[in-house]
Amino acid sequence: MSTQHLYQPNTAFDALRLPLLGRLLRWRWGRLIFQLPLLLLALLLIYDGFTGPDLASQNLATIAPWVHYRGLVIVALLLVGNLFCMGCPFTLPRTLAKRLSLRGRRFPQKLRGKWIAIAGLFLIFFLYEWLDMWASPALTAWVIIAYFVGSFVLEAIFTESAFCKYVCPLGTFNFVYSTVSPLQIQAKDQNICRTCVGKECLNGSYRPTPIVVIDEIGIDGQPTKTHINGPQGTLGCGTLLFAPQIESNIDCVFCLDCARACPHDNVGLLGRKPGVELLRPSAWRQRYDTAFLVICLAFMGLVNAFGMVPPVYNLMQDIAGGLGLTGLGVSDLAVEGIVLLLIFGVGAFGLPVGLSLLAAQIARQMTRTVKRDSLRVALTTFAPAFVPVGLGFWAAHYGFHFLIGVFGIVPTFQNFLLDHGISLLGAPDWSLGGITDLSVVGLIQTLALLGGFLGSMVVAQRIAFRHYGRSGLTGFLPWALLLLGMMLVGMWLFSLPMEMRGTVLFD
Ligand code: SF4
Ligand code: SF4
Repeated sequence: MSTQHLYQPNTAFDALRLPLLGRLLRWRWGRLIFQLPLLLLALLLIYDGFTGPDLASQNLATIAPWVHYRGLVIVALLLVGNLFCMGCPFTLPRTLAKRLSLRGRRFPQKLRGKWIAIAGLFLIFFLYEWLDMWASPALTAWVIIAYFVGSFVLEAIFTESAFCKYVCPLGTFNFVYSTVSPLQIQAKDQNICRTCVGKECLNGSYRPTPIVVIDEIGIDGQPTKTHINGPQGTLGCGTLLFAPQIESNIDCVFCLDCARACPHDNVGLLGRKPGVELLRPSAWRQRYDTAFLVICLAFMGLVNAFGMVPPVYNLMQDIAGGLGLTGLGVSDLAVEGIVLLLIFGVGAFGLPVGLSLLAAQIARQMTRTVKRDSLRVALTTFAPAFVPVGLGFWAAHYGFHFLIGVFGIVPTFQNFLLDHGISLLGAPDWSLGGITDLSVVGLIQTLALLGGFLGSMVVAQRIAFRHYGRSGLTGFLPWALLLLGMMLVGMWLFSLPMEMRGTVLFD
């Protein structure tokens, strides 16, 4: 590839150039337009969570996050990108906190990885199942409050957006699956970036007092092109991404601060082939934390679904009986917690770590690359292949709840209004739910599972031939078997009757 080619401006579709919407997105307060409605919604959920009906399917606090948010987030990731993080209401107090912490310290170096995020995801999925969060409006309201507090505190202490980048389970989920999204932040012309003085996309254009930045100096030594950074400017990238070097959507919250801060209008939200970054080795750090995040999250998709099907209850009783927990005199809730922790620990962490290490080791042995590749390289190289299969599991699971409960929000909202003396929308019709023909839902789930599996097989096969050359087929085999095993388990799980959550018809 010639140097000339390397610096050709990128002319891909740019969402920030769309009529009206593009201008709105680039506007200084553009993000606020999306955040304010979601902030109001979050406050409404907290209010209804504490004061509304106890029945989960009649309370906005349980319906909106556990049925609608989770379904819509998958659709948004597939069709556009990380839209939820773009409109995330938890970052509103963060914006204030971040201004407080401009001179704060950085997040501790030892914690700057994805291990906390993996633990956070594990914890939220475990607590969700153990404490039946989906059935408790008040508990869900407390979770929303915890998000606001966590975001504010971390942003107030540290300079970068530590909560988004290292902690937030919702954001981490979005980061992983936005790697298949069709939009990505990119610098449009690398030549402009090379000579850019302020690198405002990263450093921000906000200054408490205005300063003049000189972009170009003429042959007479006088500035010929300048711009001013000042109080009207924008903060730079909170997750410390540098626009001209971005190759992945991981860690990008789609806040568009980089586009607003760039004085040369050189940042775009550019189109790309969906999933292309899974095949781009430079987009993936060869680190265990990133790899295990992707692999464990795919397995969490299975474990989470397992928590809703009949065999889990038999298994829990067997484990509790086998370990003698029932005779210890502790509460049923404590016994359930211990047993679920064991199931989640094995299924969401032990199995993915063990099986992926085994597949990597077998691939090294079979391709005779033990001396060339460390186990870490052999494993992390194939981590992107677990994105599509994982997304398939989550789409099948969240899609199920969304499809059978999609219209349930209407009577719930009517009921909320009536409870507060507003009869504007009439009386609730509790028969409104969603798709009642479960064979249609099953078909959609099967398509999601098969699509994810096939996507993963293609990615794994391409990686194998790129990495192992002529031994590509051999190197592909252990990973293909692991992916096939996961898909078969997924097919079995989603063929079992699932608990119907979030719709009155099935409460
Ligand atoms: S994206 Fe804009 S601010 Fe960032 S380096 Fe390039 S020209 Fe400079
Ligand atoms: S500022 Fe950073 S996180 Fe925000 S859109 Fe730009 S690259 Fe993504």
